[in-house]
Amino acid sequence: MKQPFSEVRPIPSVEEVVDKAFRKARKGCQTPPKTLPPHVRVRIREQSRVRIATQVIVSALDRILRDFPRIESVHPFYRELADVLVGVDVLKKSLGALKWARDSISRIGDLYASKLRGARTVGEAGRLRREAYGRMVSILKQVSENVELLQEAREKLVRLPSIDPSKPTVIVAGYANVGKSTFVKAVSTAKPEVAPYPFTTKGVIVGHRETDLGVVQIVDTPGLLDRPLSKRNRIELQAIAAMKHLPGVILFLLDPTETCGYKVERQLRLLREIREMFGEKPIIVAANKADLMKPGDLERVEEEVGKIPVISALNGDGVEELLQEALRALKPSPSG
Ligand code: GDP
Repeated sequence: MKQPFSEVRPIPSVEEVVDKAFRKARKGCQTPPKTLPPHVRVRIREQSRVRIATQVIVSALDRILRDFPRIESVHPFYRELADVLVGVDVLKKSLGALKWARDSISRIGDLYASKLRGARTVGEAGRLRREAYGRMVSILKQVSENVELLQEAREKLVRLPSIDPSKPTVIVAGYANVGKSTFVKAVSTAKPEVAPYPFTTKGVIVGHRETDLGVVQIVDTPGLLDRPLSKRNRIELQAIAAMKHLPGVILFLLDPTETCGYKVERQLRLLREIREMFGEKPIIVAANKADLMKPGDLERVEEEVGKIPVISALNGDGVEELLQEALRALKPSPSG
């Protein structure tokens, strides 16, 4: 499944829509036979200009309206991210304004087509067409801010990563340099994709693995789940909170050797914060860098979290077993 905003095409400005509509109308309008009286010829031509201009504008607006997914049908994971990036209310209001503009312009097209049928002179036909154009432009001007907003929204939303919220997901967390991306690489079938994530400059890393549960995603979010949550701004927190909507488990990696550069104490504090934030999700804790561990390295960790799997993401020791444990946590328990 693609992310829901990936198909939204670039949005033209109001000026571009107007220019295109009037240009097409001028070039494409009917040229009635010279045998007809001048006012009839002008009337037919102006009618056809109004009709073409209306069609071009209505279809441009329709395209935007169709490209955006219905916000209510967007998965909560992406809805929450869209809310952080753009604001769901703002998005709905802008799309609502566009719908209003489309319907109004469509009505003006019909109205002036019928007014033009009654035009008695060359001058009147020209005046009616200009009046129709003027009203259409005025409506589009009223929504130009909404269009600009949708242009900006689209730029941000198309860059959301393709994490499929309908697939089981293992979210890997833990301080920087504890070995998260090494683990993701070790358990993924192909090379993990680095997808842009608008909340961090580093993007997200998404690996895939075929399992008896189907394809499982293994996601590493550098810059998000690797630092104290208390230091996060509202946007980052909401981007983190959105992950609650992904069906899956959190795999928290600790580096008891502290070669990552962070004391075990700090790593455990982050674990507590993540537990608090994702209380309803299963969290599996494991210790990485077994190959570097010295006796006693695990003492403090085990005091806090009890016995945990010990792996070496670098040389693969225990990696498969840990993934299997995470997968067991993904499976709905027999009691449901
Ligand atoms: P991340 O920031 O948590 O994604 O950490 P990385 O996966 O980038 O790993 C940080 C550094 O630790 C890299 O130099 C890795 O090669 C190294 N590393 C990761 N896992 C292990 C391990 O099990 N043993 C050892 N010795 N080094 C590891």
